[in-house]
This record gives sequence, structure tokens and C-alpha cells, in this order.
Amino acid sequence: MKRKKNALVLLAGGRGSRMHSDVPKQFMMLGDKPLIWHALNTVQRSELIDEVVLVSSSDDIPVIRDIVDRNGFDKVSHITSGGKERFLSVVNGVLALSEKNGSCEAFDGGPEVILIHDGARPFLDDGIIERCLEGVTETGGCVAAVPSKDTVKLAGEDGIVTSEPPRSKVWCMQTPQVFDSRILFDVCRRVKEEMSSDDPKVKERLSGITDDARMVSLFTDTRIKLVMGSYENLKVTTPEDIIIAERILEERSGHIS
Ligand code: C5P
Repeated sequence: MKRKKNALVLLAGGRGSRMHSDVPKQFMMLGDKPLIWHALNTVQRSELIDEVVLVSSSDDIPVIRDIVDRNGFDKVSHITSGGKERFLSVVNGVLALSEKNGSCEAFDGGPEVILIHDGARPFLDDGIIERCLEGVTETGGCVAAVPSKDTVKLAGEDGIVTSEPPRSKVWCMQTPQVFDSRILFDVCRRVKEEMSSDDPKVKERLSGITDDARMVSLFTDTRIKLVMGSYENLKVTTPEDIIIAERILEERSGHIS
């Protein structure tokens, strides 16, 4: 039986303000390559991914295009500009896929499954992708995650603890976040509609969406399946993450000094 067609939306549209660097985070060097190269290289080599849409801020599109062309990343079908918030970048990336494939995208040569991945997570691997693709068949929505190593507490603005979920049930969300394409196309169209609404209450509903599973849950009752990501699948966010990422890269290449 022919396997499902899988497209991946790779996000590189952030400003990386927590990195306090003049160079946009996605172009900072990790080893001898820009950060974004690492995830791109993995998906280009993966037999599980058929097509890639890259999302970047409009100013950075020429640099991203150059990285894609020079490295022969020919699975990239689209480079599209990002939005102000991460979830808006996701909507732009997903809808770029749907526009490309017309209205019968899920059935007529379009992707049946869409994976969303942070370009700032350089250590994606085929094992994680495989677990996500298996998980998504169960409920239509699946996220790579890891059990929390730390105890988590919720606190109010005054810093006073209000509740503490049992650690054995706390998972930290990573990417890929993976969905049946029909669900995701529909959700993204609805987000776009709501964003153009003049009603502040409608927009308010969309504030604070920091992951794709949350966006999907706002509009549908899709159950989200968690599968094991990897503790190495970290998101490079603050300066010390680059040091950790360099170390992981060295270890993976067998070049520990
Ligand atoms: O900001 P955060 O750390 O959650 O970003 C995660 C990923 O989302 C990064 O790869 C970043 O480039 C991307 N992003 C985006 N558009 C935004 C904000 C973040 O594509 N507006």
C-alpha cells in the first residue's frame, strides 16, 4: 500500500529576541552551518517527508533562498513570509500548502499529514518523525514531547504558588506537532478569518497560543496524542542553548575534544 504523503512546515520566522544577538537566530552558526540548515538537512534526507514549506520573515527570504539553493534542498516547494506571532507563521505556512494544492488538497496529490517543526530545533531525527507519524493515525493530532524532569508549579502574578500538577503527568511540548491535513487546513482558515475580524473578543481568544495543539484544540475536539520526542530535540532560545547544542553536535559527530 502506498504510504500517505507528508508535508512539513519549517518555522524560521521568529526574531529570536531572547538570544540577544545581532544575527537572526536561524542564521547563527552551529558547527559550521547556520542553525536552520540542520533541521532542513534532516528533512531533506528523510524518506518520510515529501515536501517542505519554509516560513521566514520577509527580510530574510533572500538568505533562506540562498541556503536552500546552495545545498540542493529541493523538497522545499515554497518559502513564505511569517506572521507577528508563531501561530500566524504556522497559518501562513500551512495555507501556502493549501493554495498550492487547490481546494481538494487532502485527496488529490496534496499532503494527508502535515508536520510543523521549529527551525530552532536542530536535532530532529527520523525516529521522532516516525513516532509522530504513527501517533497521528490514532487521533488526527500528535505532538513530540518529553516527560518533565523538573517539578512544575503554577503561580499567580504575585509569585504565590496556586497549584502543582503531579510530575508524573507533566510533559514538555516539543515539535514536530503533527495533524491530519484536513483538520489543519480547516483550523488555519478559521484562524485567518478570526484575525480579520474587528471584534476584539474574537481576537482575544487567539492570544497566547504558543503551540499548534492549542490552536487546533480551540477550534476542534481533536484529541492530542503525545509521543516521545527526545531530550536532545531542544529549542535553541537563549545563549546557553547554543553551548549545549554545540556539545550535542560534537558528540553526534564523534568529535569530542
Ligand atoms: O518564539 P519561539 O521560540 O516559540 O519560536 C519557535 C520557532 O517558531 C522558531 O523556529 C521561530 O523562528 C519560529 N517563529 C516563527 N514566527 C514567529 C515567531 C517564531 O516562525 N512570529
